[in-house]
Amino acid sequence: MAKYRGPVCKLCRREGEKLFLKGARCFSAKCAIERRGYPPGQHGRSGQFRRRRESDFARQLRAKQKARRIYGVLERQFRRYYEVSLQRRGLTGLNLLQILESRLDNVIYRMGYADSRAQARLLVTHGHFNVNGRRTDVPSMLIAPGDMIEVREGSRKRTYFRELRELAEAKNVPLWVDRDLNSLSGKVLRLPERSEIDGNLNEQLIVEYYSR
Ligand code: SF4
Repeated sequence: MAKYRGPVCKLCRREGEKLFLKGARCFSAKCAIERRGYPPGQHGRSGQFRRRRESDFARQLRAKQKARRIYGVLERQFRRYYEVSLQRRGLTGLNLLQILESRLDNVIYRMGYADSRAQARLLVTHGHFNVNGRRTDVPSMLIAPGDMIEVREGSRKRTYFRELRELAEAKNVPLWVDRDLNSLSGKVLRLPERSEIDGNLNEQLIVEYYSR
């Protein structure tokens, strides 16, 4: 279960936009994009890189990196997802996004049980969730339509989960997910449609990147 361990806000600055990787901080004035909205590194501020005309390859690479960073997936696993999406029927790009959305950490984030995918990942690795009645600590587990996710009985006593109902209530849940705050559980009803996935991802460029 490898994961990126470097500075998180740097990833947003590299992409030149908010990727919302840190929960509440992303909506505050402390956000690094608000304070230092230029790329990281020695020449980031001078804008040398921004003046360059981007090649097709650079645009494809950036699209792929952005998606990887948003979902917190390392290169090898991301490529594996791409290969699986090639084998599925339908549009490869949409298949890829649906696989990313089906990850357990993403589903928990979508249900509003975590402020960010990174936090969801942490909650899963600490064993606070059951999937279909069985404890799991694998954030990359792919959730299929019909699968039931719930906070484990023993974890509900913890302060975080006791306060969660109130916090989660304010968060909207997408239509492809069903959530029951009383029992701190939820279900995936179906795979998300393209319009229900972040619009600023460009899956076509990602497919072009891997089919070079
Ligand atoms: Fe990105 Fe959030 Fe950091 Fe802002 S606070 S730079 S949106 S991770």
